This record gives sequence, C-alpha cells and structure tokens, in this order.
Amino acid sequence: MIAGSAGSFVLRATDGAARRGTLSLAHGEVETPAFMPVGTAATVKGLTPDDLRAFDTRIILANTYHLWMRPGRETIEALGGLHAFMSWDRNILTDSGGFQVFSLESRRELSENGVRFRSHLDGSQHEFTPENVVAFQEALGVDVAMALDVCVKLPAAQAELDEAVRLTSGWAARCAAARTRPQTQLFGIVQGGLDERARERSARDLVALDLPGYAIGGLSVGESREELARMSRFSAALLPPGKPRYLMGVGTLPDLFNAIDGGVDLFDCVYPTRCGRNGRALTRAGDLNLDNAQFVRDARPLDETCGCAVCANYTRAYLSHLFRAREMLGPRLLSYHNLAFLAQAMAEARAAISEGRWSGFRDRTEGFASTGGPEPAG
Ligand SMILES: [Zn+2]
Repeated sequence: MIAGSAGSFVLRATDGAARRGTLSLAHGEVETPAFMPVGTAATVKGLTPDDLRAFDTRIILANTYHLWMRPGRETIEALGGLHAFMSWDRNILTDSGGFQVFSLESRRELSENGVRFRSHLDGSQHEFTPENVVAFQEALGVDVAMALDVCVKLPAAQAELDEAVRLTSGWAARCAAARTRPQTQLFGIVQGGLDERARERSARDLVALDLPGYAIGGLSVGESREELARMSRFSAALLPPGKPRYLMGVGTLPDLFNAIDGGVDLFDCVYPTRCGRNGRALTRAGDLNLDNAQFVRDARPLDETCGCAVCANYTRAYLSHLFRAREMLGPRLLSYHNLAFLAQAMAEARAAISEGRWSGFRDRTEGFASTGGPEPAG
C-alpha cells in the first residue's frame, strides 16, 4: 500500500447535514456539492472539453469497462494517458467497471477472485479483479479510481446483499493494497441495498481502510425516490465527515437536492445527457419534451433563469425544430443546456450552504420535485 496522497478534502461549511467543500485533486480543485458529467467512452456525448469548461466543469467521469474494451489500455497509454488522449486537462474519475459487468447478467461469472465476463462487442472473455482494475485506472492516469464492487439489483434477497457486501469489502482491501500511483485517489463503494445493517457493515469495513473518499453504490437501481433519499442519507452519516462522499448514478434535481440534504458531495448520472439526446430539457419548471406541439412557436429560451449559452442564443421553437428535423445540433445543444443547468443548480446549492440558508433554498426549490420522470431509453 502506498503512503500519503495527492488529494485532500476541506469542509468549508455545513448547514444541517448539507456540506460545502473543496476536493483537491491532481488536475485542480472541485467545489462540492458537484455533479460530474458522464463521458462513458472518453467523450461527454456531443460536447467538447471547451464546452465543459464554459460552465466550469471541474471533473468528469469515464467508464473502465468501455475503455478496457475499446480502445484498450495500451492505446491510451501510448497516447499519453486518458487526459491527453481526450484533450481534457481537468479531473477524471473512472468507475471500476463493476456496475457495467453486473448489468451484463447472463454474460458474467462471479468468484472470490473477481468477475469473468464476455464483451458486449465481440463476445471475447475478460476478467476484472481488484488488482487489474486498479492497475488499469492508474495506467490511464485518472485522478480518482473506484474500487471493484458487487452491485446488486433491487429488490434482492438478504443472503445476496450480505454476500455482495462481503466480497466488496474484501475486494476494496485488495484494491487499496494494489495502489502504486499517489496522484490517483482510490474511493471505496458502500453496498448493502436497502438493508441498514448491511450498509453499516459495508461502511465499517471500508472506513477501516482509511481511503481518500467513499461512494454510496447500489442505489438508483429500481428503488423509489423516497427509499433512495432515505438510504443515501443513512449511508452518508456512516462515513467520516472529513472525506468526500459520492452518490453513484443520481442526476435528477429532486434526487440531487435530497442527497445534498443528507450530506452527499458528488454525483454522476447519464440522465442530463441522455435526456439531451432525446429532446428532453431540464428546467426549473420541470422537464420539457421538445416533441410537444406547444413548443413549435415558443420564442422563449428553454429556461428563463438559465445563464447558459444555449438559453442566451436559441428559442424553444428552434430547438424543437432541430429535433423534428433530426438535426445533429439539437442533441448537442440540449445536452449542453442540461449539463450547464445542473452545474448552475449545484453552484446555487453551494452558495446557499455557505451562507447558511440551505433549508430555505431546498424548500423553495421543491417545485423541482416535478422533474425527473422516467428516463428516456437509448
Ligand atoms: Zn440553458
């Protein structure tokens, strides 16, 4: 195990359980709470690094499973690591690949050592182990690497949750022991489904490893909004106050605000970009579906309070036209707005926590509860 670390987390303010912090990583500081745009295959779909910088994105997420399959470790290493390869000079967090592999279901086989699976691209056999996913993420040169975990689909039997926690704890210890690169921070992932005792056991095992940060995994996988809020708050309270807490796979405003209220700092989700590709705009008044006939002659911007470049320049009518005409600019502009909109919501949340007015801000934004309907497919 390596000693010391390049990263640090400073808690700037708290308001109730909500936290305002600064996470220092090898490619700069991340002000929290923060939403991390998802760049699955080393690209946030449709957006350039300049776009992401325009709304002050400090960290993005990329997927180990997808990059392992294509273009592969050797290619990315030969081109100078993931930052150079994709021309992104700010922070990158990679997931461990566990979540993707577990969603393959019939194509995978779990053992004490790791998980064997077949590629969705060509059927070739691969195995993820705690050691090789850490080596892969370090080879990419990322700022935050995630430990390999076992993610269980809900609802799940008690025995399955317990076994997932047992394996996840053992694998996290092996991930920690496998680290060689001080610039890459390793985060562990708390599992345990909706079972409080399993969550407690999982958090206790991971906290004993004294990792630089902790994620709350195994949620946003089919439970209700209330269960998600309850369990993310319960899990956050089990984690040390001086370390960042990351709730995986959450990206609608009501879910983000609930989790911030429960003490979570970091988030990621494909929701804003997937919606952007499917004609769904995130706004303060709820999600707008641009397919809807009411927008054909609507001269207003997507959201009148949004300060993004799309809202400054384009009408709902024009964006609606782009989607009807299947023009590629439509998905691009809408993905830009959706991510910029979430970035602004996070900045407002940070200011509210800093200024001790979080609960008023949270209650005023209850109108956001109408957003985040069923996720569009694709
Ligand atoms: Zn906008």
